[in-house]
Amino acid sequence: MPLKSYDVIVAGVGSMGSAACYHLARRGVRVVGIEQFDLPHARGSHHGYSRMIRQSYYEHPDYVPLLRRSYELWDDLNGRSCGGSGGEKIFHRTGGLYLGPPDGAIVPGAAAAAREHGLSHELLGAREVEERFPAFCVEDQYIGFYEENAGFIVPELAVRAHADLACAHGAEIRTGEGIIDWRAEEGGVVVRTSRETVEAGHLLLTGGAWSGALLRELGAGLTVTRQVLAWLDPAGEHASQLLAPGVFPCWFIETTTPFGHYGFPMTSSGGRGFKIALHQPGLELVGADDPAVPVTEEEVGDLREILRRWIPIADGPLLTSCTCLYTNSPDGNFMLGPHPEYPGVTVAAGFSGHGFKFSPVVGEVLADFACAGSTTHEVGFLSWERLLRS
Ligand SMILES: Cc1cc2nc3c(=O)[nH]c(=O)nc-3n(C[C@H](O)[C@H](O)[C@H](O)COP(=O)(O)OP(=O)(O)OC[C@H]3O[C@@H](n4cnc5c(N)ncnc54)[C@H](O)[C@@H]3O)c2cc1C
Repeated sequence: MPLKSYDVIVAGVGSMGSAACYHLARRGVRVVGIEQFDLPHARGSHHGYSRMIRQSYYEHPDYVPLLRRSYELWDDLNGRSCGGSGGEKIFHRTGGLYLGPPDGAIVPGAAAAAREHGLSHELLGAREVEERFPAFCVEDQYIGFYEENAGFIVPELAVRAHADLACAHGAEIRTGEGIIDWRAEEGGVVVRTSRETVEAGHLLLTGGAWSGALLRELGAGLTVTRQVLAWLDPAGEHASQLLAPGVFPCWFIETTTPFGHYGFPMTSSGGRGFKIALHQPGLELVGADDPAVPVTEEEVGDLREILRRWIPIADGPLLTSCTCLYTNSPDGNFMLGPHPEYPGVTVAAGFSGHGFKFSPVVGEVLADFACAGSTTHEVGFLSWERLLRS
């Protein structure tokens, strides 16, 4: 019997895979997305109700043009899926405040990216931050960088919206079906799943924490880490007012150079309460299929200590907590581009705890590679060559 055939197979329909399905389907491409779990789900990297989005990118200024395009695509997605029709908003612009020492990584890095790309921002002294955002207590030696254009995305809604729109444009999305292996052949790929074997002209590998298995030897440099999130219930009307969107921004504090703690204003969308987490990839290595180890009291205590020092009004009773997976590349930058051995395969992996905000533009880049073998987006700095050279 002939194999079921598609133009493109997307392996993993999470943050990047759902966006790729959408961008391919809207171009009229016959695409199938194959996802081992539900859509969305809480076993990978896209759960937890909020992902920060910002443009003054301290990690590397070359990300800024991709972010500009991502902003356009998030606005478009908001309008198409829910924002325009009274549904729950996906993209919330709340402003973003980054605090750090003047010679640290975050504030100087964000300022350099903002200068290079002409992004609107403000530099604030410790007291100016406290006057503007009274919930913060800022140590004298820290300074603030404020970016009005920053905000957060609701990741579960975004994955669902990309997948729904993809299906509306003719994509087939299958859930509860794992990809077991794949092979490149003359003119295409053959993919074996837990249900059947299918073929296509092109394969996109968007497996998140499972990318190591999908990439085989090429995935050897990826590490998966367990990350802890907690939601607290700050007491009283006063706290609710000071921590509300419009009054309180998304925030990132450089508590351990070059990493730190971050969080969001309190909103009624998605998770209730005040969310705090540590962004420090590499602390606790795990396997993607390991059972999630529950958050410990000690871990919550560490997060509380940060709040008592920097945002004391937010330190209320624990509402809930969970863990989520980062998939880290060797240098913390994404691995995005054609597979170095197989031209019919493109890879998007190693998002290193900061990829969600890029998912629509990554979807567009993946669709470009699958359809044309190249993209006009500047993604050379994310190519495999940099890692194979080092
Ligand atoms: C706690 C936490 C906080 C974060 N905060 C931010 C933030 O503030 N801002 C930001 O921009 N980014 C943030 N990130 C990072 C961002 O969420 C990730 O970079 C992004 O979600 C990665 O997307 P992905 O598509 O690679 O992975 P996922 O969204 O996990 O998708 C991969 C999918 O592939 C599927 N899959 C894998 N293997 C197979 C297989 N063999 N067969 C079928 N399906 C398969 C998986 O089930 C999964 O659904 C955060 C991440 C975490 C964990």
